[in-house]
Amino acid sequence: MRLDKYISSSTNYSRKDVRRLLREKLLTLDGVVCKSPSLQISSGQTILLNGKAVQAPGFRYFMLHKPQGYVCATKDNEHPIVIDFLEEPNKDKLQIAGRLDIDTTGLVLITDDGQWNHAITAPKRECKKSYYVTLTNDVTEQARSQLEQGVMLDGEIKPTKPATVEVVYSNEVRLCISEGKYHQVKRMFAAVGNKVCDLHRECIGAIQLDPDLEQGQYRELTKPEIDSIFSLQPQTVKQDK
Ligand code: URA
Repeated sequence: MRLDKYISSSTNYSRKDVRRLLREKLLTLDGVVCKSPSLQISSGQTILLNGKAVQAPGFRYFMLHKPQGYVCATKDNEHPIVIDFLEEPNKDKLQIAGRLDIDTTGLVLITDDGQWNHAITAPKRECKKSYYVTLTNDVTEQARSQLEQGVMLDGEIKPTKPATVEVVYSNEVRLCISEGKYHQVKRMFAAVGNKVCDLHRECIGAIQLDPDLEQGQYRELTKPEIDSIFSLQPQTVKQDK
């Protein structure tokens, strides 16, 4: 890859800026000052910009611990957005893989890899998401069993897919679902006569929210975390009778 493309893909500098950086002798390749924007970069070579290593271009994958009050959008005129927490170049290329409501906390995955995002969000993939849910009322055995079998949500024509409900305290449960309909968890509990007062996402597939991340903090995903999403098997499409 050409030097100017490499730098503009990995930093906030444009190709035009690269010419200025070259004039100012701020770019080195394996210790040698770079002179031409068309210099070819091979994998394994080290580029320094003003003495700091420039990360090789490639897809980026992050997990963020979302606090309440932030929206999972890339632009919003009314509220702060989760992307604001990221100190990364080229933030306009980042997408959120599975949104949370403004008042929900927990795990948010952010990437610029559209295929990876699709593997999480495509309904056919049935990627599991686990939520810790605090409710206004205690969860009855009947409600638990209804939620596990599937409930009809307002405005839908099919019941929800089977879920798992682990009752932790009488009004606190861990719910695992494989769908991502609008306000799904809140609507599922409304369907059994309860109300969500606090909602926190703990896991997406095998990726767990890192307990070391405070609200508003983020980190890059590890290779096994990234690969775990691609190893999710698409579910076979069941024929409707
Ligand atoms: N279900 C909801 O109701 N809200 C969320 O934020 C996520 C799942």
